Amino acid sequence: MDVIDRTSGEFKDALELYTRTPLLELGQLADAARWRKHPDPVVTYIIDRNINYTNVCVADCGFCAFYRRPKHGEGYVLSYEQIGAKIDECKELGGVQILFQGGHNPYIPFEWYLELMRYIKRNHPIHIHGFSPSEVVFFAERFRMSVSDVIRELRAAGLDSIPGGGGEILVDSVRQRVAPKKAQTDEWLGVQEEAHRQGLRTSVSMMYGMGESPADRIEHLFRVREVQKRTGGFTAFIAWPLQPEGTPELSHMPKTDAVTYLRTLATARVILDNIPSLQSSWVTMGHKVGQVALRFGANDYGSLMMEENVVSAAGTTYRTTIAEMERVITDAGFTPRRRRQDYSLVEAPAETVAA
Ligand code: SF4
Repeated sequence: MDVIDRTSGEFKDALELYTRTPLLELGQLADAARWRKHPDPVVTYIIDRNINYTNVCVADCGFCAFYRRPKHGEGYVLSYEQIGAKIDECKELGGVQILFQGGHNPYIPFEWYLELMRYIKRNHPIHIHGFSPSEVVFFAERFRMSVSDVIRELRAAGLDSIPGGGGEILVDSVRQRVAPKKAQTDEWLGVQEEAHRQGLRTSVSMMYGMGESPADRIEHLFRVREVQKRTGGFTAFIAWPLQPEGTPELSHMPKTDAVTYLRTLATARVILDNIPSLQSSWVTMGHKVGQVALRFGANDYGSLMMEENVVSAAGTTYRTTIAEMERVITDAGFTPRRRRQDYSLVEAPAETVAA
C-alpha cells in the first residue's frame, strides 16, 4: 500500500497547480506534456461496444442509476446468444472490442463467466476488455478465490484486458461514503497491479464530483502514479464527472462544469507523466468540450460506444457516429486514427461506415 503524504512539498505543489494556476497556463503545461509524449498531430479513438451483461447488483453505490437489487422486476442477465448478437453488430460497424461489465450479481456462478469467455472466442471472436477491478474483487469474495486465480482463470478462458471502471476516487474516506460495499482503494489498485503482473495492460479512471476535496483528487492521481512506477501496465487514464441525475443518493450534487473538467484533465496530464495516453471524455462533456480537451492534455478521443447503459441511465445522452467523430477530431486540428485497446493503430477500411 502506498501512503501519500499530503504535507509533502510535491503534494502541495500539485494541489496548487490544480486549484490556483490560471486555466490557460495550466492548459499550456498539459498541452506541452502531451506533445512531448505524442509528437504527431494524431488523435486516436476506438470503436467498441459496451455490453452490460447484468444490471443486478448488491453493491448499492450511491451514484449509480443503472443497477437493480436482486429480485427486482427490471433485473436482467443477458443470454450468451444475446451477447453474441451484440458482438456481431459491433463487428459489422468496424468495432474491435467489447467493453464487458456488469453488476455484482450474486446469482451467477463463476463457470458462467468462464464458459461465456470461451463461447465468445469460439463463436464471435473479438477482444474482450472486461470485468472492472470491483467485479474481480466481488468474484474473489463470492467464489472464495484469490484475486490472482480469478484473473488467471478468466484470462485462460479468453479475457484479454481489464478496464479501469469503478475507480471513482481512490481514497477510502470517499469510497466509504459513496460505495462502501465495493472494492476499497488498496483492493482496487491491487487487482490492477496483479493484472499487470500477469501481463495484461489496463486503463485507469477517475470519476470526480461526489463531494470529495481537490486534495482527494490529487491523492487519487498520486496513488495511480505509484502503481505505474512499479508495473508500467496502465495504457491510459480517463477522468469524467459524476452524472448526478437519477442517482439514488447523489442527485443533489451539482453537475460539474467544463472548467473543472479541463483543470482536472490538465492536472492529470502533468502529474501522470508515466502514463502514455489520456482520453477526452466527450460522452459526458459533449463534443465542444471534448475538442478543447485535446489541447488540455488528451491525445485520445475515447470510444465510439454503441451502448453505454450506466452513464445513460444517469441521464447523459451524447451520441455520435464514426463520421462525426472523425470530423470533430479533424476540426480540432488533428488527424483521426482508429486504435485497439493497447493503442496500436487499425488501418481504416476504404469507406467509413456511419454508426
Ligand atoms: S456502479 Fe457498478 S457496482 Fe456500483 S451499484 Fe452500479 S452496477 Fe453495482
